[in-house]
Amino acid sequence: FSTGAALEELIIPPIQIDHSQLLINGQFVDAASGKTFPTLDPRTGDVIAYVAEGEGEDVNRAVLAARKAFDEGPWPKMTAYERSRIMLRCADLLEKHNDEVATLETWDNGKTYEQAANAEIPMVVRLFRYYAGWADKIHGLTVPADGPYHVQTLHEPIGVVGQIIPWNFPLLMYAWKVGPALACGNTIVLKTAEQTPLSALYVSKLFHEAGLPPGVLNVVSGFGPTAGAALASHMQVDKLAFTGSTATGKVVLGLAAKSNLKPVTLELGGKSPFIVCEDGDIDQAVELAHSAVFFNQGQCCCAGSRTFVHERVYDEFVEKSKARASKRVVGDPFKKGVEQGPQIDSDQFEKILRYIKSGIESGAILESGGERLGSRGYYIKPTVFSNVQDSMLIATDEIFGPVQSILKFKDLDEVIRRANATPYGLASGVFTRNLDTANTLMRGLRAGTVWINCFDVFDAAIPFGGYKMSGQGREKGIYSLSNYLQVKAAVTALKNPAW
Ligand code: ADP
Repeated sequence: FSTGAALEELIIPPIQIDHSQLLINGQFVDAASGKTFPTLDPRTGDVIAYVAEGEGEDVNRAVLAARKAFDEGPWPKMTAYERSRIMLRCADLLEKHNDEVATLETWDNGKTYEQAANAEIPMVVRLFRYYAGWADKIHGLTVPADGPYHVQTLHEPIGVVGQIIPWNFPLLMYAWKVGPALACGNTIVLKTAEQTPLSALYVSKLFHEAGLPPGVLNVVSGFGPTAGAALASHMQVDKLAFTGSTATGKVVLGLAAKSNLKPVTLELGGKSPFIVCEDGDIDQAVELAHSAVFFNQGQCCCAGSRTFVHERVYDEFVEKSKARASKRVVGDPFKKGVEQGPQIDSDQFEKILRYIKSGIESGAILESGGERLGSRGYYIKPTVFSNVQDSMLIATDEIFGPVQSILKFKDLDEVIRRANATPYGLASGVFTRNLDTANTLMRGLRAGTVWINCFDVFDAAIPFGGYKMSGQGREKGIYSLSNYLQVKAAVTALKNPAW
C-alpha cells in the first residue's frame, strides 16, 4: 500500500473556517446554551473547529423561524420563477467556490479532494439546477369526476420540513434534501451530522447571498439524541426526511408518529450485491466490483459489499481483486492520485476492524489488507475476503468500510435468491454482456436500483431509495417532489352541468 508519501504535496491547504455557528432566520448565531463541540480531521483526529452545538431550544427557534417564513411568506408566495432564479444563482455561486467547498468537505470528512472537487461539488451544482428547473413546472390536474362538478388538484408545498443527514456525503445529502424541498416552496430546518457540520453552513450562506429570504433555510449543527430527536418530534414540523442508519431510522419514525404523525421519508442502510457473471471481461468486472465497494472509503449506503462471482471465473476474479486492492493508493486525501482517505472517526474505524476480525475468525480467507495503515488517523488497508459464506457477519451486516466479501455462485436462480436474502434492498449491481441474464437479474433483484455494467451513477434525475429495511420513499428525480407536496382536491359544484 502506498501511503501517498511519495506523491505531490497538498494540492490545496486547509482554509480558514468562517462559519461554525447555527444558521437561524438568516443569521449566524451561537447556541442558546453557548455550548460548542469539536469537529475533527479524520487524517489526524485533530480539531478543525469548534462548532455551535444546537439542542432542543435551538431547534425550536429554527422551526419557529421556518414556520414564520412559510406562513407569512415570502417564500411559498413568491412566483415559482423567482424561487428558481435564486436556486440557479446559488448554483452559480457554488460553482465559483467549488474548490473552497471541496476543501472543507475533504478536511471534515476525509474523502479525497479529487472526488470532492471534480465529482461531488459539481453534482451538487447540477442538482440545484435540476430542481431549479422543476420549480416552475409543478402543477396539478383537471380531473373528470362523475356528477356536476369541476374538479382540480392543487399541488401545494407541505410546509416546514425537517431534514436530518449523515456524514458520508455531507453536501450531496444536503443537496438531495434541500433541492426538491426549496423547489416545491417549503421552508427547512436541516440538522447536519455531528461529524461533518462545515460544508452545509458554507453553502447555506451562499443561498442567502443568492437572495434566499431569512427563515427559509435554517441549519442546526448538533447531535442526534438532542437536536435530531427534537426536530423529529417537533409539533410544528410538517414533514421529516432522514438519511442514516436503519436503527436510527426506526427511532425517528417512532418520534414522528408519537408527536404529530408527520410523514417521513427514510434512506437507510444496505448490503448491496454486485453480481459478476461468467460471460464478461474479467478485468473490467474486477475494476467495477472494486470501485463499487471501495468508493468513498466504503462509506456508502449503497456499497456493493457482497461480490457474488460465478464459479467459472471465481479463482481468476479473486486473484485479480486481491492484486487490485493491494495497489489501491491509500493516504492523505488532499494529495493527488490518492484513491482512499481515512475513515470518518474512531468509532467507525474500530467497528470496521472488529468486522475484519470476525471475518477471519469465521473462516473467510483474508486475501488482502485486514489492518490499519500507519499509526495516526483512521486509515484502513483495502481488505478483500474470499470464501465468504452467506451466514458470516461480513456477508450480512453493513460494515461501512473498505471491506470486500467475495462469494461464489453457480446459477442465476440461486444468486437471485441469495442476493435477496437480506433485510436490505437499497441497490444492486450486475456485470454481464448477456441481455437475457441482465434482464433476468434486473427484474429478479429486490432493490431500489439495479446498475447494469456500471455502479454508483447518481444523476440528479435518477430516483434513489430502498426496498424493505433500506427505506421508504425515493429521493432525486421527479419522485422526490411528491415528498414535499400536498395534493389538495378542489371540487366545485357546477350550476349548469351541460357546460
Ligand atoms: P451513523 O451510524 O452513520 O452515524 P446515524 O443514523 O446515527 O448514522 O446518523 C445519521 C443522522 O441521524 C445524524 O445526523 C445523526 O446525528 C442523526 N441521529 C442519530 N441519532 C438520532 C436520534 N435519536 N434522533 C434523531 N436523529 C438522530
